[in-house]
Amino acid sequence: MRLLTVYQHFYRAYGPQHWWPGETPFEIMVGAVLTQNTAWSNVEKAIANLVAADALSVSAINQLSPSELAELIRPAGYFNVKAKRLQNYCAWYQAAGGFEVLQHWSDHDLRVALLAVNGVGPETADDIMLYAFERPVFVIDAYTRRIFQRLGVFTGGEGYETLRSEFETRLAREFKEDLPARIQMFNEYHALIVRHAKEACRTKPACSQCCLRKQCPGRVD
Ligand code: SF4
Repeated sequence: MRLLTVYQHFYRAYGPQHWWPGETPFEIMVGAVLTQNTAWSNVEKAIANLVAADALSVSAINQLSPSELAELIRPAGYFNVKAKRLQNYCAWYQAAGGFEVLQHWSDHDLRVALLAVNGVGPETADDIMLYAFERPVFVIDAYTRRIFQRLGVFTGGEGYETLRSEFETRLAREFKEDLPARIQMFNEYHALIVRHAKEACRTKPACSQCCLRKQCPGRVD
């Protein structure tokens, strides 16, 4: 099945998702670090606490003690670990010159640098690449693996980098628009995958409500 066909089904079924929920690139980065292993509603509470404490900035986060930051982001869960990760990220971001400088780095250099920050894994790095820096990187998460394994597109056992590269290569071939349009499509596609995993292709899938039920070899009802 073509990856673009899946995207078109999702888009017709759900419409635009308006991701990433965040008003500035820095807020998107903070959200990407905090969203690991927790629901987005908890991240929103943590970000609201940072805003209320006037601490949603690189300098403010770097100046807080780890325990003060952990208290503010407590709603996001794993708050001690995430406070450390967020401060690692902000220390790197500030030292690198912030958005003004980093926006000029190549895709490769930026991704390598993000992955070198202690506590930033591939999914977080790619959330930041795609949604904060608007680079042509496809985000892979557990929802992506589940849906595309059930659709018979992948086995589900592929590594992160293999899946990312497959999505990027195939979509570059199937989607003939220019780079900005492809980046926008990657943005929308990942958001639609998350939506589909919550609406239909859940742990126990609701196949009767699925826009892909006619094509899906993994459907169960
Ligand atoms: S038919 Fe079922 S298993 Fe296949 S994508 Fe839809 S919800 Fe998932």
